[in-house]
Amino acid sequence: MPEGHSVHRAARRQHALLAGRPVAAGSPQGRFADGAAALDGRVLEGVEAAGKHLFYRFDRGEVLHVHLGLFGRFRYHDGPPPEPRGAVRLRLTGDEGAVDLSGPTACDLIGEDGREAIMARLGPDPLRSDADPGRAIDALARRRLPIGAALLDQSIIAGLGNVYRAEVLFVCGIDPARESRSLDRPELEGVWDESRRMLREGVRLGRIVTVSAAERGTPPSRARRGERTYVYRRSTCFRCGGPVERPVIGARPCYRCPACQT
Ligand SMILES: [Zn+2]
Repeated sequence: MPEGHSVHRAARRQHALLAGRPVAAGSPQGRFADGAAALDGRVLEGVEAAGKHLFYRFDRGEVLHVHLGLFGRFRYHDGPPPEPRGAVRLRLTGDEGAVDLSGPTACDLIGEDGREAIMARLGPDPLRSDADPGRAIDALARRRLPIGAALLDQSIIAGLGNVYRAEVLFVCGIDPARESRSLDRPELEGVWDESRRMLREGVRLGRIVTVSAAERGTPPSRARRGERTYVYRRSTCFRCGGPVERPVIGARPCYRCPACQT
């Protein structure tokens, strides 16, 4: 499952590649044939990300909604695209290139009402300039579930996944099993600020590197596998060297260092 940084990168890349001009739309696989026919030749006005959702606005009010889910992916082509490979649900082609979408959980025409309904269900996305941190912090301050589970709930904060929730809580020194509402205001503000900082860094780098350059001794662009995270998918803590625990929180394995997080 991609985390929010990669969805925002996809939105920016596709906006730059395709927006402002008519696009050709097709569904080589056939499962989105009617939708693609409705979009074919329309001007793509913009591509927007919110959490893990993508919205494509077209010039007659059509809105395409895409959620990659576990298996969805994009493939990009510069210039005229080759014959589609595999089950391509949607191909959008502009003057300068094309993008293929395969395996998404959602690829639907929803209109502006549908977009607003999805936005209303999502919590604030730290990567969006219109995000209201107070909404997320108030929601976290009320919830009885573990903070590690609350951070996966897209209706509280949109865009965090299993890697970032573990790493945000590590950097904040917070045990993911603590009840969300037991965190005080400065702790909750710290969780929001750190989420935003890490997601922005993920957008900039194109991958998740949470260990600071100072602690690793190399810049993030040169971080090797095994030295990009403090606890996620590690058996020992990058910072203190102690054993990392892997409790199931929010139905998925979380990672924590009992020495560094309390
Ligand atoms: Zn540690």
